[in-house]
Amino acid sequence: MSEIQKVKCLIIGSGPAGYTAAIYAARADMKPVMYQGMQPGGQLTTTNEVENFPGYPDGVTGPEMMIQLEAQAKRFEADIRFGMITKVDFSGEIHKCWADDGTEIHAETVIISTGASAMYLGLESEQHYLKIGGGVSACAVCDGFFYRGQETVIVGAGDSACEEAHYLSKLCTKVTMLVRRDEFRASKIMTERVKNTPNIEILYNTEAEEVLGDGQGVSGVKARNNKTNEIIEIPCTGFFLAIGHKPNTAIFKDYLNLDEVGYIKYEQPGTTKTNVPGVFVAGDAADKTYRQAITAAGTGCMAALDAERYLASKE
Ligand code: NDP
Repeated sequence: MSEIQKVKCLIIGSGPAGYTAAIYAARADMKPVMYQGMQPGGQLTTTNEVENFPGYPDGVTGPEMMIQLEAQAKRFEADIRFGMITKVDFSGEIHKCWADDGTEIHAETVIISTGASAMYLGLESEQHYLKIGGGVSACAVCDGFFYRGQETVIVGAGDSACEEAHYLSKLCTKVTMLVRRDEFRASKIMTERVKNTPNIEILYNTEAEEVLGDGQGVSGVKARNNKTNEIIEIPCTGFFLAIGHKPNTAIFKDYLNLDEVGYIKYEQPGTTKTNVPGVFVAGDAADKTYRQAITAAGTGCMAALDAERYLASKE
């Protein structure tokens, strides 16, 4: 049976943006309720060491940082729930949201911190080795370490692919980049950097068709030249994807202004306001440029302060 709960502040999503918003909102006595989503802690929980978050001189693992952020939010009595918000109605002054446990929430303010997810090619073999942790990854900075002294393949031709290929080139004996067109999408400086790295080989007009292996681990990639149809097999133990991210914003599309990729647009630059009064966005759901834990945490703080001011202005 569905139950209606009235809340001052609902936070959707639990990465650094969501937890920071929860800490600020709880300390401001907004009694925030957070739905963590299917991956509590968000993308950082798939990371090993985080070495660039200020305040951790010896680094910290992504999962550990998320446990600490959750504990910090709970210390101020944020109501943190495992589950998903699956539907919203932002047409009225009170924002209606439905959770997958049947709860209907009527929120005065909503902070969206649903983040983004890495995109994959969708090949059956790719998904198989991804699921078993057998050598497929969408984060070279997180997983490159495991391929030290080995050969890897990376798909993509944007700034992320160049940055990650360059990162891998410092760890791996050889990195093969598969570029589906005959040119890069990345900025000139990033493109030049990979072109000038001796152990990066660039294969243009080339698309991965199958990830090869013994069922337990990756041993190569079968790729096709889309101009000549020539098939080649590239030996590697790691297969990396850097073909973009998809913001997790589908449930908001009927109410919020999104860009062509799906990132939520800020209504007023320098704030976290969306086009719906009382609905704010923080972190990667609106950020395609920086995408860092620290920038997500920063916008999480801003969203909680914006929500607090919004509530004060209504009173
Ligand atoms: P982009 O969307 O810029 O690039 C995605 C790349 O993946 C493109 O080269 C695209 O090919 C390729 N691709 C997409 N789908 C497939 C597919 N199915 N098979 C093969 N290749 C595919 O994403 P990024 O993550 O690289 O960058 C996102 C944003 O972040 C950009 O604005 C970028 O500039 C920025 N960024 C900046 C950095 C920096 O300045 N240091 C670092 C990282 C990102 P195609 O070109 O053919 O479409």
